[in-house]
Amino acid sequence: MTKGRRSPHVAKVRLALAAAALVGIAALLRTCASAPLPAGPALAVQLPPATPPAGMTLHRLPTGFVHRRAASAYRGGSFFEERNSAVIAALIAHPRGDLLIDTGFGRDIDAQFQRLPLAFRLVTTYERALPAVEQLRAAGYEPNELRILLTHAHWDHTSGLADFPTTPVLITREERRFVDEGGVRTVVARSTSAVHYEEYDFEGGPYLGYPKSHDLYGDGAIVVVPAPGHTPGSVIVFVSLPAGKRYAFIGDLAWQREGVVEREERPWIWRLAVDSDEAKVRDGLVHLSALSAQFQEITIVPAHDARGFADLPLLQP
Ligand SMILES: [Zn+2]
Ligand SMILES: [Zn+2]
Repeated sequence: MTKGRRSPHVAKVRLALAAAALVGIAALLRTCASAPLPAGPALAVQLPPATPPAGMTLHRLPTGFVHRRAASAYRGGSFFEERNSAVIAALIAHPRGDLLIDTGFGRDIDAQFQRLPLAFRLVTTYERALPAVEQLRAAGYEPNELRILLTHAHWDHTSGLADFPTTPVLITREERRFVDEGGVRTVVARSTSAVHYEEYDFEGGPYLGYPKSHDLYGDGAIVVVPAPGHTPGSVIVFVSLPAGKRYAFIGDLAWQREGVVEREERPWIWRLAVDSDEAKVRDGLVHLSALSAQFQEITIVPAHDARGFADLPLLQP
């Protein structure tokens, strides 16, 4: 059998396809390059008063992490820098009721992960640590002794809900609707049928430039504000401790601190995959960046940046 000569037409098509692929890759890489959002104006706001009770404490409960590069977390991040995405819950102990901010990875994370879209699973590997419920039990807590407050309803924040079937879960009306209307982004939240949701309203006035707020115990110690964009009902939780230290748990408005401090949004492909309204996320980053510059006593805690949690003690050292 003689070897046939490759047609010049086929060679041209292959060349065109290779060129198109290169152009596509170059365009994709350009969306990962640094592009700081314009800084917003200084905010005409005061640090709101807070009278947190003595004995109020804040702990971190690391439940695992997702392997990531800095380049996937924020524009301008390096492809060569390992920047794992920490999956951490935070426990606020308050005399009027303890509160777990998000749940992190729960006992069922391996089965829940299989429910996520194939494309996401292909680029995602993770490691699990002790689930929050077990860390709490080891510290002497029963799950019904606290409430859970969700920053939002994505998989890595709601995985542990299955471990807390009798625990009230505070959620905004918008986020509850987001869960109930279906879609892959909230498939893990829906995989747990026994969640005991409690919706709350923002009946309080403006807070640090946010139009409304929900002061959980009326003492300014735990104040929740709406921060829609990453999801329709995302929130930021401001926590003030007795010693004067303040924290802003910002959920996934940014994945890493650079998102806020350097006003670098997520790369395009990730905005497309995970954000409900990227324009609102941008507004949120610009506002938070101005707040962070103005009030340096507030530690900004993106949900997946281990550095934001670093000075919080572990529940079980
Ligand atoms: Zn998220
Ligand atoms: Zn997340």
